Amino acid sequence: MIYRRPSYYDTFHCLGGACPDTCCRDWSVVPDEGALADYASAPSPLRERIAQNLVTDEDGDVCFRLDGKGLCALLTPDGLCAIQRDWGESHLCAHCAAYPRFIEEYGSLTESSLAISCPEAARLLLEAPRFTLIETDDGKADTPFDGIDPALLDGLEQSRAQILALLDGEEGTIWEKLNALLGRAKTLERSLLPVDCRRDVPFPPPLVPNLFQASAAWLLELLAGLDPLRPDWPRLLEERTAQLSALSPADYIALRTRYEQANPRWERQLTNLACYFVFRHWHKAVNDDDLYGRAAFVCAACTVLYHLALFQPGEETILWTRFSREVEHDEDNLSELIWALSEPDALPPPLSY
Ligand code: SF4
Repeated sequence: MIYRRPSYYDTFHCLGGACPDTCCRDWSVVPDEGALADYASAPSPLRERIAQNLVTDEDGDVCFRLDGKGLCALLTPDGLCAIQRDWGESHLCAHCAAYPRFIEEYGSLTESSLAISCPEAARLLLEAPRFTLIETDDGKADTPFDGIDPALLDGLEQSRAQILALLDGEEGTIWEKLNALLGRAKTLERSLLPVDCRRDVPFPPPLVPNLFQASAAWLLELLAGLDPLRPDWPRLLEERTAQLSALSPADYIALRTRYEQANPRWERQLTNLACYFVFRHWHKAVNDDDLYGRAAFVCAACTVLYHLALFQPGEETILWTRFSREVEHDEDNLSELIWALSEPDALPPPLSY
């Protein structure tokens, strides 16, 4: 079995009460059965507080109640979890104890990552000198899970390694590399996937041209139409769409120049971001064969987050976090976006670059 994780993975520490956007907000946490049984032995009055704040959601799952602001009812005013603070970290449910660590298992391969929906994980990625992976092999010759085509997984392994090397290489700008990623994805769809899964995907795509003001505005508008976790997210996207569309070409170039000069690491940051998305999402094509859509998602995410940062320089961490919460962590939104970027009919009208 091969195990992989980003090099900064082990340096993660939760910010606790100092977190600028706690994970104990907006998400319904469903404790595992072991945790629910454990809660019965919590010290009083914590035991009663837990019991009072467990509710059943519309799917019939028992979860922690969220208050009127969307905060977990177990969150204390100092920004800490009452279970962790008053009883100990070992009593957290599996979901809360693991977050933001995510593990993807393929049978012969286990990959761990830190979701950038957590601001501290986003900061680690943003500030990493480069996106590198640590790999260990326990020497056991495990096979992929049932339902995973070993040849497809092998092809995804090889192609992803090449793409990560391309993104991290010295040749070309980040936008040229993302364009190359789309081209590779199209070629790979033809060579790796079963014949009935190959599509006439749009190429060359209009998403990552050299000057791409209109493409970015279209993408911002597309994201604003997804189902929001928080209502201020689509409002922000609509506002930025209007601001971006109102810029003259000269003002647009000037804004980009100012941003890039003020933040000399902008291209490294975007490269790290692209590598993170490729690392987390590329292999998921084993489930649905949609490789091009995932490549387009990576390009779209980088394009959108670059343009949002033009209007909020220095706030990249929180913008990445918001995007991840709204899109990456919402299966429906992620699928809808990938579909919108994959289907030729869903692409925008001809764009002026
Ligand atoms: S979002 Fe990250 S840093 Fe913030 S409280 Fe959650 S795990 Fe800790």
